[in-house]
Amino acid sequence: MLKELGRGLLTTFKMLLEGPVTTSYPEEKREVRPRFRGRHVLKRYDNGLEKCIGCSLCAAACPADAIFVEASENTDEERYSPGERYASTYEINMLRCIYCGFCEDACPTEAVVLGDNYELSFTDRHDAIYTKDLLLEPASEGRPTTPQTVEPGVYTRSVPQMENPKD
Ligand code: SF4
Ligand code: SF4
Repeated sequence: MLKELGRGLLTTFKMLLEGPVTTSYPEEKREVRPRFRGRHVLKRYDNGLEKCIGCSLCAAACPADAIFVEASENTDEERYSPGERYASTYEINMLRCIYCGFCEDACPTEAVVLGDNYELSFTDRHDAIYTKDLLLEPASEGRPTTPQTVEPGVYTRSVPQMENPKD
């Protein structure tokens, strides 16, 4: 018992020497680990088009049934994403989500990504449903947002050609 007491006191003395290990949140924010899984973000391509093609693979892969996707048709006059369809409705119920990352793994276009935002709070269960306008990242500076009017016949492919992993 004396041994445990000594170990506890040693830890306390170490903290006195090394300074506080706590962070004054929310003024100070801790950097998250590289593989941290926080709130989802729906990504865009550099040209401003949305990566999500409304295929619902993320919803199918979700073990908590937390994702709801509804797809609509793209046209070249009103284009949201490359290919035939885009997600006209995209919702995630954050009360159901267990942050497993299966949706991210299932997505063929790398559209849904679990980011580093851990600041989720709501007092009403309806507010826990994050809609597309909350999840979709803004277009980069100087880039058009969606929908866009594009040249006909350019964005025919839903899933971009990707290189195989090298390692
Ligand atoms: S992280 Fe897991 S539980 Fe949450 S929405 Fe994605 S697949 Fe579903
Ligand atoms: S986020 Fe990915 S998997 Fe989910 S609907 Fe969009 S493209 Fe499909």
